[in-house]
Amino acid sequence: MSDAETHSTAELPKAYDHRQVEPRWYRFWLERGYFHADENDRARPAFSIVLPPPNVTGSLHLGHALTATLQDVLCRWKRMSGYNVLWLPGTDHAGIATQMIVEKEIQKTEKKSRHDLGRAEFLRRVWAWKEKYGSRIGEQHQALGASLDWQRERFTMDEGLSRAVREVFVRLHEEGLVYRAERLINWCTRCRTALSDLEVTYEEGHRGELWSFAYPLADGSGEIVVATTRPETMLGDTAVAVHPEDERYRGVVGRKVRHPILQREFPVVADAVLVDPTFGTGAVKVTPAHDFNDFEVGRRHGLPMPSVIGPDGRMTAAAGPLAGKDRFEARREVKRIIGEMGLDRGATPHQLPLGRCQRCDTILEPMISKQWFVKIEPLARPAIEAVEQGRTRFVPEQWANNYMGWMRNIHDWCISRQLWWGHQVPAWYCPDGHATVAREAPRACESCGAGELRQDEDVLDTWFSSALWPFSTMGWPEPTHELDRFYPTSVMETGHDIIFFWVARMMMMGLHFMKDVPFRVVYLHPMVRDEKGQKMSKTKGNVIDPLDITEQQGADALRFTLAALTAQGRDIKLAKERIEGYRAFANKLWNAARFALMNLGGFASSAEAPERLARTAADRWILARLARAVNETTDALEAYRFNDAASTVYQFIWHELADWYIELAKEALYGEDPGRKRGAQAVLTHCLDTSLRLLHPMMPFVTEELWQTLRRAVGADWGDSLMVAPFPRRRAVDEAAERSFGPVIGVIDALRNVRGEMNIPFKTPLRAVEIGSLGAEAAETVAQEEARIVRLANVEGLRIHRDGSPTRARPGSAVAVGSGFEVRVPLAGVVDMAAERARIEKEMARIEGDLGGIEKKLANPSFVAKAPAEVVEKDRARAEELRERRRKLEEHRTLLAAAAEDPVAAVPPGGTEPAPAAEAPPAATGEAPVAASAGAGQPPLPFPRRKPAGARRRPAPKRKAAPARKAGARRAAAGRPARKKARSPGGKRNPGGTSTRKPGGRRRKRPAARRTRRR
Ligand SMILES: [Zn+2]
Ligand SMILES: [Zn+2]
Repeated sequence: MSDAETHSTAELPKAYDHRQVEPRWYRFWLERGYFHADENDRARPAFSIVLPPPNVTGSLHLGHALTATLQDVLCRWKRMSGYNVLWLPGTDHAGIATQMIVEKEIQKTEKKSRHDLGRAEFLRRVWAWKEKYGSRIGEQHQALGASLDWQRERFTMDEGLSRAVREVFVRLHEEGLVYRAERLINWCTRCRTALSDLEVTYEEGHRGELWSFAYPLADGSGEIVVATTRPETMLGDTAVAVHPEDERYRGVVGRKVRHPILQREFPVVADAVLVDPTFGTGAVKVTPAHDFNDFEVGRRHGLPMPSVIGPDGRMTAAAGPLAGKDRFEARREVKRIIGEMGLDRGATPHQLPLGRCQRCDTILEPMISKQWFVKIEPLARPAIEAVEQGRTRFVPEQWANNYMGWMRNIHDWCISRQLWWGHQVPAWYCPDGHATVAREAPRACESCGAGELRQDEDVLDTWFSSALWPFSTMGWPEPTHELDRFYPTSVMETGHDIIFFWVARMMMMGLHFMKDVPFRVVYLHPMVRDEKGQKMSKTKGNVIDPLDITEQQGADALRFTLAALTAQGRDIKLAKERIEGYRAFANKLWNAARFALMNLGGFASSAEAPERLARTAADRWILARLARAVNETTDALEAYRFNDAASTVYQFIWHELADWYIELAKEALYGEDPGRKRGAQAVLTHCLDTSLRLLHPMMPFVTEELWQTLRRAVGADWGDSLMVAPFPRRRAVDEAAERSFGPVIGVIDALRNVRGEMNIPFKTPLRAVEIGSLGAEAAETVAQEEARIVRLANVEGLRIHRDGSPTRARPGSAVAVGSGFEVRVPLAGVVDMAAERARIEKEMARIEGDLGGIEKKLANPSFVAKAPAEVVEKDRARAEELRERRRKLEEHRTLLAAAAEDPVAAVPPGGTEPAPAAEAPPAATGEAPVAASAGAGQPPLPFPRRKPAGARRRPAPKRKAAPARKAGARRAAAGRPARKKARSPGGKRNPGGTSTRKPGGRRRKRPAARRTRRR
């Protein structure tokens, strides 16, 4: 292949340019056939996903981008893990949507309706439109990096799928599960078609009015007052219903009222189902042809059902003097006429749910119409059982309840649509109106043998064909290798908004025709909203276009952002700054890799394990941290916790590998000891290689580019592409290495935090610092690393209690406590004691709050009984930790109180100018300064505290806190350096890239996701 391979070894451009990298690698993967699943390969386990087919009219929006990202993450991860992966693409013909677009187009350019063109010509135009624009959405998926098997791309109206649709219709008809009947259905007067219940959007709380009027009794002996929100429907009334036990109407049931406009007479009936005697007058007008409840009353009482509103929304001849009027105009007319007759009994404001057409927003009209239906109950039962038995599992679990609730109350499904674009109903009628249902056009009527047959003009609901997607796309009804190998599919990943349209119907059809569930797992992703949590819409102007983002920030940045924000059960709040922040992450990775590549001279990859080559405590520590990151990422992916997977990889690469290890390794890399140098090179290579593999499913492009360069630089025999390289395997974590080196990082971090909190500039040395309460392994390492600590934290006079004893309590000192160490810094002379006291109080309050919450939870027996044991255990451990920190803080407060008596300690802070380390200018390009060595006059700080634009945590001057109970200190003690908030690169307060944050500014408690991540 082309330029990707001829790229010179170990040379990377200074800045990462996604525009140059992304299309090149997509082509490479495609040309190599890596996306193609092998239906004959039985050696590898199968993993399959069918992409919910986007509308052929569609243009990629964020919902598609999220779907594609999450599915691609799963598919790439599984492929790297040795699975034979089928990810099947395609598009949906999208009946109404597509027809509307083409109709509008023709109306605009030719001023013609589809009826002017005629059915054949109109369909020709739609196909032409499809040929022209139908591939657009596929190309957009390619720009995102979606590793779809394009050789298997399908379209719901291609020949194979059309055949499957006919086969299903005919078989269901033969089994009595498809029938044609005159029923009341939802009708859109604009689209002029029937709709299924699911295609109705209910506008809740629409403000209407409840209007009352009187029906005179036919014998003139009185009147009955009824009320309605749709006065025009009174023209179709054929009864008044009352409750059989309502005393008020005891003598009226069975008598007649007279229609004041139409002069028809109709009965007063008793109906206990329809009528609630406590509502209004207790009498209800009955319009069987235009109301779902009334339709049932009409059937129960054998009432006439005149349709007074036509398919076009105009009143029919049955509406008498109002025939031909628009339904809403008729509404006003009816009120006027009734008013003139003196029968108006007033109106009150009334809120009601209003059904609107999902496509065009027109207010729907219930209408009696002859349509095709699927008898749903016999299909729903097995689909309910499959979920009950766990053959299909929902993630998050609670969606199973929604599914069950809907399935248990499901109505027959109206599947015919009065459209032209779609699968024409395979039924033919003879002149006598007998229907013949067949796979191919029949020659004669099966009832009477008549030869002149006419095919049903209606088409099938788009979702009828989508429901077959998991098996129709694999060649059903033929028994293909694909079906054998890849059905049932592994995962259905989609938005929870189409759980009924799509998931439920696929379950029913899959179980019925394939005798097995269509998917093992249904993962329902959250909705993408704007940064304030509002729905994105063109009118609000808050839409983020994924294609713009891909162009500007790269597909990798968009994908990583979406993965990082996909937490179960929470909507995604997307801000552009977040994407910029993760774009900076790609840069950070790029720079870390550049640094590594510049320092790998003379190193050649070998079969020897990096653990064997590691020479220093830092080497062993980063390998342990890497192992933990691998395990946690794998755990997260297996549990569909995309946000945790993203966060783990991000934290490891940014804060452990780039910020710490690369800096720690410089000594060995630049030093004279060949063993240490080779050890650092091996460890660095291994960490980078493994990180790239871990990150690849989420950020495929930049990882492939870097991995290829790394592979060539060290001459490694890793295969041709990262895309098909093995995903890192779980491994044992060297916890001793974490415990022994973690406190070194913790101590340095804690000392930096003290400076940050207390405004102590770096040039002012910290004196008489004590490190105590060390574990046995840590004591040795901390002592070995003494010089490093002194240098990196600018300490004069460090005392390490190697025997594990605590530091000596002294008035006027700050103490940082981690579970594996304790640091004490005398503050006298450099710190504002009053501020320190205030900070402690605030911190105490925060701990009390956190602790209170956890204790309350633990005191709740049902939580303890129901939550997984590990969750309860974790909460207990956390409560214990908080209590310990509270105890330490109390001690510290006592000490400070003592210090207040000490005049020396009351000296104001030792300077307000920021520490020099904090003022290293951030690279305007967003380049992470990891590879930069310390400049002249600057201390050789291992971890630049400034993050590149959009990637630093926000300044927190108000959140000063003693290091005593810092998450960073705690975390460092566990071998984890202070971590920044993964969830807020691009802190809003600081978008421009200049920070006023002090070094080591107080960080907030960890985001929830991090708190629950560890097992
Ligand atoms: Zn409509
Ligand atoms: Zn016939």
